[in-house]
Amino acid sequence: MTMKPFTIGDCTVIAIEEWIGPYVAPLKFMPDATAERIERQRTTLQPVHWDPKTDLLVFAFQSFVVRTPRHTVVIDTCVGNDKERPARPNWHRKSWPWMDNLRRAGIAPEAVDYVLCTHLHVDHVGWNTRLVDGRWVPTFPNARYVFARKEYEYWEKRNREEPLPQGPLLEDSVFPIVEAGRAVLVDTDHQIAPGLRLEPTPGHTPGHVCIHLESGGRHAIFVGDMMHHPIQVPEPLWSSGFCSDRVQSGLTRKSFLERHADTDAVVVPAHFAGETAGRVRSDGATFRFEFG
Ligand SMILES: [Zn+2]
Repeated sequence: MTMKPFTIGDCTVIAIEEWIGPYVAPLKFMPDATAERIERQRTTLQPVHWDPKTDLLVFAFQSFVVRTPRHTVVIDTCVGNDKERPARPNWHRKSWPWMDNLRRAGIAPEAVDYVLCTHLHVDHVGWNTRLVDGRWVPTFPNARYVFARKEYEYWEKRNREEPLPQGPLLEDSVFPIVEAGRAVLVDTDHQIAPGLRLEPTPGHTPGHVCIHLESGGRHAIFVGDMMHHPIQVPEPLWSSGFCSDRVQSGLTRKSFLERHADTDAVVVPAHFAGETAGRVRSDGATFRFEFG
């Protein structure tokens, strides 16, 4: 099961899948979790979000396309094809049918106006570029690629100090965009167009942003990796081992859940499998995620 397209006012939201499957053991992914409290969620999460065969949490790797009456926007660009990722064999030199999935959804790369990356991790920038005759070129030749300046500067500096553990992602998926003159560096609360704006949500990475879409009195929020898996909704302080600041990440997530619980805001996390999108509901002293 994958996310069905839905509308927000005048806008349509479509998921473009790269890969979905059992991905990581819960305790390996969330160092602050405990086996006993993880176990409490087994029945709620199995089988769609927690695979009973492998005992791994299920993750989706997907992009979202938002079609507004004026713009076509791609949010987050997965892992990508042909990337050199020897430290991550399951992401190394792949040939996923992501572009076919995009075209099947009726989206021509030339028609995309904006590419938005919630943050510059390896699985959110991949399809920014594709390999053509040995060179990395922008996948979306007419798009403006919007990066939060704070995020860009953080990774650019770290990359100068030492090679990034996730691989040469800036060299193959970010710098070619800058060199092609297609990158726009913005503040973390930037408004892209009426009804489409960024919100700073630091913790997972320093310049991580959520993307708010508002139209016709309705509201969707693309939250990137602010939440990785539905297991974190009742346990908001369990951050991933990939977060640059696990404490800040937990506080950002908790405050987001408090603000949006029991509202009509449709929350769209990057990696939730199944129906992906849903609403936050309060549940005693904590929260639960209501899909659909
Ligand atoms: Zn991430």
